[in-house]
Amino acid sequence: MQDQLIQYLTELVRINSVNPDLSTDGQEEREIAEYVSRHFHQLGIPTQVHTIHGDRCNATAFLKGANPGKILLMNGHLDTVGIEGMTDPFNLRKDGDKLYGRGTYDMLAGCAVQMGLAAYFKDQPCPISLAFTFVADEESLSMGMEHLVEHYLPSLPAQPFLGIFMEPTEESIGISNKGYAWFEIEIEGLAAHGSRPEQGINAIFPLAAALQELELINQELAQEKPHPYLGHATLHPGLISGGTGQSVIAAISKLNWERRILPGESQDKLDRELKRVISAIENTNGDHKVKARQTFNRPPNEIPKNDLVQKLKKAAGNTNYDGMSYWADSALASQAGIPSILFGPAGHGAHAVDEWVSLASLVNCYESMKRFILDFD
Ligand SMILES: [Zn+2]
Repeated sequence: MQDQLIQYLTELVRINSVNPDLSTDGQEEREIAEYVSRHFHQLGIPTQVHTIHGDRCNATAFLKGANPGKILLMNGHLDTVGIEGMTDPFNLRKDGDKLYGRGTYDMLAGCAVQMGLAAYFKDQPCPISLAFTFVADEESLSMGMEHLVEHYLPSLPAQPFLGIFMEPTEESIGISNKGYAWFEIEIEGLAAHGSRPEQGINAIFPLAAALQELELINQELAQEKPHPYLGHATLHPGLISGGTGQSVIAAISKLNWERRILPGESQDKLDRELKRVISAIENTNGDHKVKARQTFNRPPNEIPKNDLVQKLKKAAGNTNYDGMSYWADSALASQAGIPSILFGPAGHGAHAVDEWVSLASLVNCYESMKRFILDFD
């Protein structure tokens, strides 16, 4: 199977699946989704390419097991980040144990594992049903996963009992990951000539108070009891803008920040933080108008170490539990009622120019998944 996994990964890497929302080098996922779907079709496993819109596509396949209503959901995202600064991003290069190329680690290797499992179980009795899923757009707004949750998962004969998302976890069982929310405040003042500030309302000065309050909240978060795998919640200002010229009293300014959310933190808590920033601005001099809102939210994810998760841990050679600081599509599956975890190979350079996945680890993941599935017999 090692050679087959290398071959699948080589072909997956060769097809440009850079997320077109992130880079002008990008290409929508139809070509790679069709490639994946062809693999299942050739194995005689029912498969579909789902168009989200245009050429943004997911691929799915369903293998019926001896216990057809017991369904394991497996998932990988087809899109990768950009290729800026890479010399030969779409050509898999093997250097010892390292397989270099864009998407090898994050997370076409996980997609190759699913393809390998399909090849193995097509002529081998499979104790449970396997839902193979490959989605678009994880690196941007997860339109692929949203589409899957809305249109494909409800069409399955039963709700999957577990979701395994093969993101790179260094073979740890990723039972928790942070969520995130984006916030925006816009401060409106009044423009005036720079020499006559008394005739205007400066919209930039109050940003200092807003930033100070955010820093204070961040410090408070750092004082809270840390999550055993994820540490502390954090926030950071990511964008700041305002004004029209050096000699003009600025009429508008805007500040956007991101809040990384721990499992168990409530929306109420986030709302209170937002209110604190608004009050800090309102308490500054001047008759400003403040508009503030949460613009986007992705939930955190955490599942208990139940029998199932322990079974996977055992199948994976008694590896360790871990939490992932990054957000992943698994949170959307959990939110839809399918407890979902992350489990994938070791490597290096997700979103970097020197991305590689360990071949030994890729094979380990495949073997671990196979053991986990066969163990339901
Ligand atoms: Zn990923």
